[in-house]
Amino acid sequence: MSPLRVLILGGSAEASALARRLAGDARFAPVLSMAGRTKSPVLPPIPHRIGGFGGVDGLAGWLGDPGADLLVCATHPFAAQMRRHALEAASRTGKPLLIIERPCWRAVEGDRWTPVADMAAAARALGETPRRVLLTVGQKDLAPFAAAPQHAYTIRSIDPPAAASLPPGAEVISARPPFAKADERRLMQERGIEVVVTKNSGGNDAAAKLAAARALGLRVVMVERPPALDLVGVDAKEAADAAGAIAWLEARHEAASRLLRV
Ligand code: NAP
Repeated sequence: MSPLRVLILGGSAEASALARRLAGDARFAPVLSMAGRTKSPVLPPIPHRIGGFGGVDGLAGWLGDPGADLLVCATHPFAAQMRRHALEAASRTGKPLLIIERPCWRAVEGDRWTPVADMAAAARALGETPRRVLLTVGQKDLAPFAAAPQHAYTIRSIDPPAAASLPPGAEVISARPPFAKADERRLMQERGIEVVVTKNSGGNDAAAKLAAARALGLRVVMVERPPALDLVGVDAKEAADAAGAIAWLEARHEAASRLLRV
């Protein structure tokens, strides 16, 4: 049987882990797709492509030619548009879809979280009194904070944000996860941070800031996830991590081999 062609929509630690697990596995012919947001992406050990597809039509076209048998959406949990496009393209083309939905972070004893629905609400939740704020929300989502210029921001992102998007006087730190708790704690203490703003991304790579904030008794403004996709009526499943995705791929491979045997 020829290998099953798998298109992986990447941009997350799980996508990278899945690419590493599939490298050299003769049952599958995977391609990892990246949006091309970071200047020096870590390239996977499997074939890859970089850049948008041109909306749902483009992605649906790609699933036909060059072609994929299976689609795995392993984007970041906040990449809501790409996830909607994946669901729509899978539904249109009838290609089975797996979405990797990493579990959310949950507050534990000692946490001082303020949950909010979006970035504008996060900026409002900082209040009128000037605060020293650590912003770890990504470079695309800074506009609401530029509208709250009374605060002193330390902004951390993989690539430096465009200067025009920065709140006045903001300090920018470029760094790539994973981060260690001791480093996060030092960063917060050195900058005199009073509030941390983060998306509820989940996962281990960026969780150390939550432990550091808890240890220092700092408030965390937690931006909750976009609404979940409605999977009813589509050949779509969810997995929590790369291991779950492998199990789904193996089951699909087994089913395809059985069909060939009968
Ligand atoms: P988005 O708003 O959901 O997607 C915007 C557009 O970017 C999509 O419509 C698509 O363009 C293109 N795109 C996104 N992911 C792609 C992929 N894996 N391969 C090819 N094209 C892709 O996503 P975003 O928030 O801009 O995030 C972009 C990338 O950064 C994603 O890979 C995501 O996983 C990663 N990321 C996002 C966040 C976040 O908080 N949003 C955080 C960390 C990493 P077309 O419509 O032209 O196909």
